[in-house]
Amino acid sequence: MCGFTHKAWATFPHDIGMKEENALEKAKETFTEFLQASHLRKTPERYAVLERAYRSEGHFSAESLYRDMQTEYRVSRATVYNTLELLLQSRLVVKHQFGQQEAQYEKVVPDKVHHHLVCTGCGKVKEFSDKHIRTTIQARRFAYFEPEYYTLYIYGLCSKCRQKKRGKK
Ligand SMILES: [Zn+2]
Ligand SMILES: [Zn+2]
Repeated sequence: MCGFTHKAWATFPHDIGMKEENALEKAKETFTEFLQASHLRKTPERYAVLERAYRSEGHFSAESLYRDMQTEYRVSRATVYNTLELLLQSRLVVKHQFGQQEAQYEKVVPDKVHHHLVCTGCGKVKEFSDKHIRTTIQARRFAYFEPEYYTLYIYGLCSKCRQKKRGKK
């Protein structure tokens, strides 16, 4: 194990009200510490992937991030995939597996905890937040366990898919 401590998580469950625009700067600092502790090179390509991931709103796949990056900063597909792995390890992004579709990633913003409504028909994902769930989880203490991250997945059918299903009957 490297000596990297997950600073980004140190604030859980007490929010520090981090502003979105500071999120990227904080993420860069965390990433720098992580790379140093892991004896990995601080290449501009790795930071470009981090920046792109943090500028994406919502979910993205490794492939879509790679495609998006081709317009402004040319990086190889391998670099994008490898860097995403590093971002996962440093807890700067999380990976979701929504049903059958390809894995989706998203940046971690500590005070932007949200949940996911996943349509099992078309794969569409909608986000929601709920202050009651939040209060309950944050007040909860777990024996011999320190929570770092949580999200809820609710599977079902979106209105379009429900309509389609009804039409077939
Ligand atoms: Zn999300
Ligand atoms: Zn649907």
